[in-house]
Amino acid sequence: MRWILVGASTIAAEHMIGAFRGQGHAVVHVVSTTAARAAEFAATHGIAGSGDDLTAALAAGDAVYISSTNEKHRAQALAAIAAGKHVLCEKPLAMSVAEAREMVEAADAAGVVFATNHHLRCSGSHRKVRELIEGGRIGRVLSLRIFHAVHLPPHLQGWRITDPGAGGGVIPDITVHNADVARFLLGEDPQEVVAQMAASGLGQGVEDSAMSIWSMPSGAMVFSHESFTHPFAGSGLEVHGTEGSIFARGVMTQRPLGEIELVSAAGREAIPFSEHNLYSMGVAEFASAVEGKGRPAADGWDGVASLTVAFAVREAARTGVKQAVKIGGAV
Ligand code: NDP
Repeated sequence: MRWILVGASTIAAEHMIGAFRGQGHAVVHVVSTTAARAAEFAATHGIAGSGDDLTAALAAGDAVYISSTNEKHRAQALAAIAAGKHVLCEKPLAMSVAEAREMVEAADAAGVVFATNHHLRCSGSHRKVRELIEGGRIGRVLSLRIFHAVHLPPHLQGWRITDPGAGGGVIPDITVHNADVARFLLGEDPQEVVAQMAASGLGQGVEDSAMSIWSMPSGAMVFSHESFTHPFAGSGLEVHGTEGSIFARGVMTQRPLGEIELVSAAGREAIPFSEHNLYSMGVAEFASAVEGKGRPAADGWDGVASLTVAFAVREAARTGVKQAVKIGGAV
């Protein structure tokens, strides 16, 4: 496959170029809003083509990876889809649920593959936790607690903490991931949310911390904590059931790290899991979907759903009023 990168971004540089090449794919072109920056990025990463003209670039490849700031995703995705390209788009898909739906509906109408880069559901640890739940190892699920309060590294302390117009804030950045994790692990969508948010040291005009509680159709409760300001909190998730509890520590990460422990009446059991690269798995499953085999790890409707939950959390925090989560359409 020949990939066109849209956005000369950190995530492309640190993870995705390696993931594409690791699957034997070519990265043929990079598009930036400034041609000089695109050329510099291309030179640094050994990419043959570069420029600031998305329309012209689209002829160069088969698939487009969008990792620009969030307010640009919609127009770039629609242009790629109109040119018949398959699209892997970063989360959050867009600045509103309506925009995200428009993107995914356009992809469906054009018959191209559209995926959301929710990498956590590609990790060996999360897949193992889901397997334990589905295998009945903890009985009926009572609750899920997700700890995703991190310290935003200095090189990412830009638009995420200062610019609502670019989609900044911890809720569009991290709550979307937690929403996808909850949906992936429990196989159901949140129905209602209550929430609070705060600016606790980094956010300037946007929230940098949030806590929320979601009710699920099965009766399970989900607690989601995300932040940019917690240097030593560590990440993880716990799933508690009638017959056991799963403790997955250090697993809300970009790398295949962490540990899983299952606790039940039988005692404590360390659970091994695959340590494959999360982003490579996502690219591999995207490529299979393009070949007509299966679906991407997270498709466009998964991205719409995670965004719907995140914006319900933000609205609940803004108003102090419990919000219904209305995930409609082909989810
Ligand atoms: P960056 O800030 O690194 O990049 C976003 C855009 O900012 C780039 O496309 C680029 O615009 C511009 N930019 C970046 N660095 C510079 C610079 N030094 N000087 C001037 N402009 C610059 O963002 P991220 O890579 O952190 O995030 C990009 C997207 O990926 C977001 O949607 C984010 O939510 C998502 N993301 C997803 C992750 C995941 O695991 N799924 C992890 C991290 C991010 P231009 O291209 O126009 O030059």
